[in-house]
Amino acid sequence: MDHFPIFLAVEGRRIVVSGGGEAALAKLRLLLKTTARITVLAADPMPALADLAAQRRITLVRRALEPGDALCAALFYAANDDAREDARVAALARADGALVNWVDNLEHSAFITPAIVDRDPVTIAIGTEGAAPVLARAIKADLEARLPATLGLAARIGKGFRKAAEALPMGRKRRDFWAEYYFNTAPQAIEKDGEAGLEPALSALLDRHLSATPAQGRVDLVGAGPGDPELLTLKARRLLDRADVVIHDRLVAPAILELARREALLVDAGKTGFGPSMAQEEICSLMVSHAAQGAHVVRLKGGDPAVFGRLDDEITAIEAAGLDWSVVPGVTAASAAAAQIGQSLTRRARNSSLRVLTGHDMEGFAEQDWRGLARPGTVAAIYMGARGARFIQGRLMMHGAPPETPVTVVENASRPEARVIETSLARLAADLEQAGRSGPMILLYGLAPRAARAALPDLQDSQQEEFA
Ligand code: SAH
Repeated sequence: MDHFPIFLAVEGRRIVVSGGGEAALAKLRLLLKTTARITVLAADPMPALADLAAQRRITLVRRALEPGDALCAALFYAANDDAREDARVAALARADGALVNWVDNLEHSAFITPAIVDRDPVTIAIGTEGAAPVLARAIKADLEARLPATLGLAARIGKGFRKAAEALPMGRKRRDFWAEYYFNTAPQAIEKDGEAGLEPALSALLDRHLSATPAQGRVDLVGAGPGDPELLTLKARRLLDRADVVIHDRLVAPAILELARREALLVDAGKTGFGPSMAQEEICSLMVSHAAQGAHVVRLKGGDPAVFGRLDDEITAIEAAGLDWSVVPGVTAASAAAAQIGQSLTRRARNSSLRVLTGHDMEGFAEQDWRGLARPGTVAAIYMGARGARFIQGRLMMHGAPPETPVTVVENASRPEARVIETSLARLAADLEQAGRSGPMILLYGLAPRAARAALPDLQDSQQEEFA
């Protein structure tokens, strides 16, 4: 290790930056997170620096650095976007006794600035000694995604509670308390009641741990998106990391289930083998019975749980059991399919509304406002419509929809095996029959693929690469 990581006390101390362009501004973005006093010397500063000076966030001296300017500075940055000027100011600052960083010049720098994940007071510094900045950025991005944005707030409030928590015996019991606080109680309390919710939640949690009553279970109804794991929300990802039990639909892609905590119990609710209404009852009782025993249950549903997802039935069952719940939205199939064909679901002067329909419901093929749908320019996302394609086609034509209305069928939207079938209302049923079927299909009525995207093989290739 050629560079030893430390956290430097900078409160009230001087940090001096020489430079008035992009390099200086990039460093200032980081430095302004500190409680140091920052002085910038620049003969010709960018307007952004003048703004910072006007807001009194920095002291701006409008001239080049001179001997003595870096006296008593804790840190000095040579950031002039000009190697000769950087060499000059670095030498002067060194003579003034400052610790010098010469931007993008590892060899002549006494210290380097790491990539930072900021959840103040929790701060993570990532360094590669200049070997692999790309790697540092990737690690940073990974940690940013993994650590709740509220972690810093939780840590600040938690700090004030350390004394009270000493009422719990040291070791396992106290550790369990803090783990539950940081990863469950705090994020939930902040989401529900904001910062004000933290202290009461912390007190309640401590009481519970002191009286050792068993944990309260809960159910989160989480959207898994259309299949591409990268289309999961950060929240969904985090809940999967934490859940004791994951009850998922058949639609949820295996790559997403991989993300569940290793110890979690995975239950496939798509394979119960009963009729739909029976399966639904069973799913509800499964969720409720696990949560009632104190488990954190994630009910993972394809797409968005609020779109053709029986969300109300499930919430009603959870509430009837007196359990806590939340809904985490997901990317719905219509959005993924539109992205796949490079189209917008709405467009000025074409369609100012989007209809979201199901091809069949509990009674069979679903009846719709066919006359409205038949109007030119209408765009509809038809879920579960492949089987009823002939029925839908017949009803629409009967109500006067032009036979040449474009219809695009997207199968396995967002997945490596995605397939786009470009057709028209008149040919819909026949084309679908010919195409066969190997995954979930959504019908985009009134939309054709954007011309450049219509060449499907390209689309598939580029998708495959991403998943390789
Ligand atoms: N809640 C889900 C929809 C559930 S209904 C959502 O918001 O997406 C199931 C229907 O969704 C399927 O029959 C199909 O029409 C559609 N669907 C789900 N995932 C899909 C995907 N990856 N590609 C195409 N259609 C999909």
